[in-house]
Amino acid sequence: MMKRIAILGSTGSIGKQSLEVIAQHPTEFAAEVLTAKSNYRLLIEQAARFHPSIVVISDQNHLDTVERALSGLPITVLGGQKALEEVVTGDRVDMVLAAMVGFAGLIPVVHAIKAGKQIALANKETLVVAGELVTRLAHEYKVDLLPVDSEHSAIFQCLTGEQQAEVEKVYITASGGPFRNLDTAALTIATRHEALKHPTWNMGAKITIDSATLMNKGLEIIEARWLFNLKPDQIEVIVHPQSIVHSFVQFCDGSIKAQLGLPDMRLPILYAMSYPKRLNGLFPRFNFKDYPLLTFEAPDSVRFPNLAIALEVMRKGGNMPCIMNAANEIAVEAFLNDRVGFYGMTRIIEKTLRQATFLPVAGLSEYIESDRETRSIALTFV
Ligand code: NDP
Ligand code: MG
Repeated sequence: MMKRIAILGSTGSIGKQSLEVIAQHPTEFAAEVLTAKSNYRLLIEQAARFHPSIVVISDQNHLDTVERALSGLPITVLGGQKALEEVVTGDRVDMVLAAMVGFAGLIPVVHAIKAGKQIALANKETLVVAGELVTRLAHEYKVDLLPVDSEHSAIFQCLTGEQQAEVEKVYITASGGPFRNLDTAALTIATRHEALKHPTWNMGAKITIDSATLMNKGLEIIEARWLFNLKPDQIEVIVHPQSIVHSFVQFCDGSIKAQLGLPDMRLPILYAMSYPKRLNGLFPRFNFKDYPLLTFEAPDSVRFPNLAIALEVMRKGGNMPCIMNAANEIAVEAFLNDRVGFYGMTRIIEKTLRQATFLPVAGLSEYIESDRETRSIALTFV
C-alpha cells in the first residue's frame, strides 16, 4: 500500500530532502499535500513534478500566482494558515511530515493527531512548546510520533525491541556547531555569516543559528524528554564534532547502543516514512577508513549559555519551554537581521523569561497566548 504523505514545509531543507526520498521510492510513497509559507516558485515547481492533490501557500499574497500556474492540473490550491490545519485531516492523507520551522508547527500537528494521522516530526519546536500535551494526545489517539530529528531517530532506533523501564540514560550528540573552538571574546563579535556555515549539516537558517548557540541541543533535550518519557537527569549532551554517532542509549545493565551513519537527513526521513520497515537507502554509505578518529567531549555551557538556560527551563516545566522557544525565535530572527550580536540573543531570552507570565499547567490555548505574549515582550529587548 502506497503511503500518502502531507509535507508541511516542502520548500525547506527537510521538505526538499523528503521529496528526494519520495522520488527514490515512487511505489512506496506519494506526496499528497505540499505546503510552503512564501516560496511560491519552488512550491509550483514541486507541485508540477510530484502531482499532489492539494497545495497550500500560507502567505495569501501569492495565492493567485500559484492558482494560475497550476490551473491546468488536477490540484486544489489553498491559501492561509488556517488551510494548513484543515489539509492535514483529509481522508487521503496517511502521514503528516511536519517540516515547517517554529511554533507554527504546533496547531497543524495537534489537528493531524486528532485525525489519527501518523506523524513524522521534524518540527522540534512542537514538542518543546507542548510536549506533554502532544505526546498525551498521540497516546490517546493511538498515533505514531516518529522522530525525524537525527538524534531522536537514533534514540528511537536504539530503543526498538527494548523495554522503557530498562533505559538508564540517553546521550544526545552535538556537533558543537561552527563556533565550537571560539572563546567568548570571539563569540561576542561572531557574525550571522559565520554562524550560517555549519561544519557538518546543511540546514535551514533558524536551526543553523540554534546549532551555533547550542540552543538546538537545548531544544533537543526537551524534545527527547517527551518523546521517550525520560526524566531530565537521564539526558546528557556530548559533543561529537564528526556527527557520525547520532546518539547513544545506555541500559540498566551498563550496555550502550548507538546509531551511526553519515550526516545525511535523508536517512532519518526515510526511516520515519518507512517505519516499521526499512527500505533501501539510495545514498552514500559510511566508510570507517574515512573516519579513523571519532571524538567526544563535554559541552561548554559557559561559552554557550543557551544550553544551560534550556536545561533550567526544562526543570521548571509548565509553559517555561514555550516562553523560551518564543523568545529564542525572536532572538534568532534579530540575529539573522543583524539587529543583535551572538550574546544579544541570550540576553533577549533571559530578560524575556523573567517578564513573561509563568503558568505551571497549560493547555493549547494557554500555549498560544503565552507564545503571543512572549513574542511582544521579547521584541522590546531587540
Ligand atoms: P527551513 O527554514 O529550511 O524550512 C522551513 C519550511 O517551513 C519552509 O517550507 C517554509 O516555507 C515553511 N514555513 C516557515 N514558516 C512557516 C509558517 N509560519 N507557517 C507555515 N510554514 C512555514 O527549515 P528546516 O527544513 O531546516 O527545518 C524545519 C524543521 O525541522 C525545524 O523545526 C527544524 O528544527 C527541524 N529540523 C531540521 C533539520 C535540518 O537538517 N534542516 C534537522 C532536524 C530538525 P517557505 O520556504 O515558503 O518560507
Ligand atoms: Mg538534531
